[in-house]
Amino acid sequence: MTDNCIFCKIANGEIPSATLYEDDDFKVILDVSPAAKGHMLILPRQHYADIMAMPEELTAKAFVLAKKMAAKLEKVLECDGINLVQNNHEAAGQTVFHFHIHVIPRYAKDKLGIGWKPGKLSDADRDELVEKFKTIV
Ligand code: 5GP
Ligand code: ZN
Repeated sequence: MTDNCIFCKIANGEIPSATLYEDDDFKVILDVSPAAKGHMLILPRQHYADIMAMPEELTAKAFVLAKKMAAKLEKVLECDGINLVQNNHEAAGQTVFHFHIHVIPRYAKDKLGIGWKPGKLSDADRDELVEKFKTIV
């Protein structure tokens, strides 16, 4: 547990939260400022700032849990779709620096702005990236 981390305090019960599921490793809570009704957060009980800091086994468990919660959310809300969102570092929109996965229900005609303007993959970028990834373990 890390001092002054709001999600450490929530994940370990020091601050109360609307909890949908919990086990030894995780707490799943409702987001206090939801993008849509049912927006939930998967929080590991242990503090890891982002996905790069997470042990692989716990990361795998977090995404399996997100899949299970998404399936339940679909049944509870009868929504049309689900986004899993996981932000790392400020530039990517991370505001709480304790790893979490957002599970967000979607509806056919909702106006949620989760997306981007599609670009065009240039031949130079394609060749550069394919080569560089061969050299990184
Ligand atoms: P991020 O931008 O870091 O990916 O997402 C952080 C999320 O945590 C936001 O959606 C925000 O609404 C939520 N959040 C921040 N503080 C609290 C809190 O005290 N309680 C709950 N339930 N959610 C919080
Ligand atoms: Zn924390």
